[in-house]
Amino acid sequence: MVAAILPFSTDILIIGAGPAGLAAALAAAELSSTVTVIDENPAPGGQIWRGGPATWRDRRAHDLWQALANCLNVRMVYGVRIVAAPAEKEFLLETADGAQKLSWNKLIICSGARELLLPFPGWTLPGVTGAGGLQALIKGGMPVEGKRVAVAGSGPLLLAVAETVIRAGGQVVSIIETKSSKNLRQFFWALLKSHRGKLLQALKLFWQLKFVHYRHDARVVKAHGEQRLLGISLQHGDKKIDLSCDLLACGFGLLPNLEIGTLLGCQIRDGSIVVDANQATTRADVWVAGEACGIGGVDKALAEGHIAGLAAIGQTAEQDDIARRTHARQFADLLRQSFATDDSLRKLCKSDTLVCRCEDVSARQLREHDDWRTAKLMTRAGMGACQGRICGAACQFMFGWEAPGLRQPVFPTKTSTLAVLSGTASNIE
Ligand SMILES: Cc1cc2nc3c(=O)[nH]c(=O)nc-3n(C[C@H](O)[C@H](O)[C@H](O)COP(=O)(O)OP(=O)(O)OC[C@H]3O[C@@H](n4cnc5c(N)ncnc54)[C@H](O)[C@@H]3O)c2cc1C
Repeated sequence: MVAAILPFSTDILIIGAGPAGLAAALAAAELSSTVTVIDENPAPGGQIWRGGPATWRDRRAHDLWQALANCLNVRMVYGVRIVAAPAEKEFLLETADGAQKLSWNKLIICSGARELLLPFPGWTLPGVTGAGGLQALIKGGMPVEGKRVAVAGSGPLLLAVAETVIRAGGQVVSIIETKSSKNLRQFFWALLKSHRGKLLQALKLFWQLKFVHYRHDARVVKAHGEQRLLGISLQHGDKKIDLSCDLLACGFGLLPNLEIGTLLGCQIRDGSIVVDANQATTRADVWVAGEACGIGGVDKALAEGHIAGLAAIGQTAEQDDIARRTHARQFADLLRQSFATDDSLRKLCKSDTLVCRCEDVSARQLREHDDWRTAKLMTRAGMGACQGRICGAACQFMFGWEAPGLRQPVFPTKTSTLAVLSGTASNIE
């Protein structure tokens, strides 16, 4: 494996250097002439292993990395983002040095997931972030030493985020879980029955967080402050509680990143890219692995990445690989059932709450319209920097609107990149 400059063509292109992408690269390296893995981050690891080898604590990450080190046909290129597909089997990429086109023969999409953020009064105050968002900031070096942090939302990610905060010297004032104790008990029973490894991980996290006040059946109804966050109000059962804090990390689940699959016309169903038993999409020569074809975590990403990598070089997976994927997908189903976004969260957003924070559009302004397209045309919602990635998903959940459509370039880009896209400039700036 070599850290490389971006080539102009490759046999196999893998988008994403997270667990799925790294597993796919190792499997495909055996028979492919060139495997190129690209990622917009400056280091490999994706979300869970963010920060690169020096920061990894998971043995599997190091094993994969060491095995890849012996594969001289694998190139890793960082700081590169796909923004468009100007021709069949060709992408336009944006790098720090300008735009460049890259053609590929086979493609494996391992683009991961992003957080679902839901609006509530005060959610746009500085100091309020997504749960995984805060974790990513801390892994990227943001100091939280001595800061009082509330972690809210739903799902096991809250425990992982709280552990990251404590390890970085922050103080977690409370974990605020939306689901009821009955839901959580059912989840733990199901883990005990079929996923004991995950149960042990959860118990280990609870042990590390033993001095943290864990509240279930609770939600943040308001974040307070003028220039920055000073505190939050919670609804805990039928009690209203006020807490002081410096940071609020609030996450309501994950959503697959669909941009590349949509750009290529792959079939999307229920918010994920559709795959067959070999991780193949409905488009020839395109496979998908990991969160992009269904939220499920690192075990699912590793198993699917391996199977997709083999499929791209014409090999079939062993029974053991299939069994690993089946088990990981069962855990994904359990997560989905246990931590489905709670309907009651729709009520958190008040009429004057901003839903599109890029263009300052409130819930009241949006409710005057019947669908995303009209609301976008009349209010500019979704036309700002995030291009509807945050408010579009929130409107889908709150108003039942269809997901926003996608146009090239799929991410905000420099004008010089647009010039390459429209054919008025050469490949390199
Ligand atoms: C913010 C966040 C924090 C998380 N923290 C945890 C945690 O602590 N513990 C846990 O078990 N799970 C965590 N998860 C869940 C996580 O998604 C999985 O555990 C695991 O990382 C999934 O692996 P993956 O390879 O499918 O995707 P990822 O690990 O997300 O990797 C996808 C990679 O694709 C790259 N990418 C996407 N689009 C493009 C593009 N257009 N061009 C170039 N590169 C692109 C991204 O930069 C990313 O590095 C987190 C998820 C999120 C969103």
